[in-house]
Amino acid sequence: MRIEPLFMLQGYEVPAHPFSSQLEEDVIDAVSTGVQAEYQQLAQQRIIGMECPVHHQSAQISLISVVYSKADEAIEGEYQVETCCEAFKAVVLDSLTLQ
Ligand SMILES: [Zn+2]
Repeated sequence: MRIEPLFMLQGYEVPAHPFSSQLEEDVIDAVSTGVQAEYQQLAQQRIIGMECPVHHQSAQISLISVVYSKADEAIEGEYQVETCCEAFKAVVLDSLTLQ
C-alpha cells in the first residue's frame, strides 16, 4: 500500500507532492514566524528578574533570527544580548541556552 500525502486546501484534498517543496517552505516560514514571537517571549521570561550583581542592570535581549534546521529537525533561535558587562552577559547567555 502506498501512502499518498494529502493536503486540505479550502476543503479539497489534494495530493501533496506537486506542491511539497513550495508548501514545505511556506510551512517552515509560517512556523518560523510563529515561533519567533514565542522564542522572544520565552527568552524574556528566562531573564526576568535577572540583574547584574555588580552594576544592578538588567539585560536586553533581541532575537535576531529563528532558523529551522532540516538536518536536525530543530528550530534554533539566535539572540543578541546586551548587558553592562561581560561577566553578566555570560550568566544571561547561560540561562538562555535551551536544553
Ligand atoms: Zn555588570
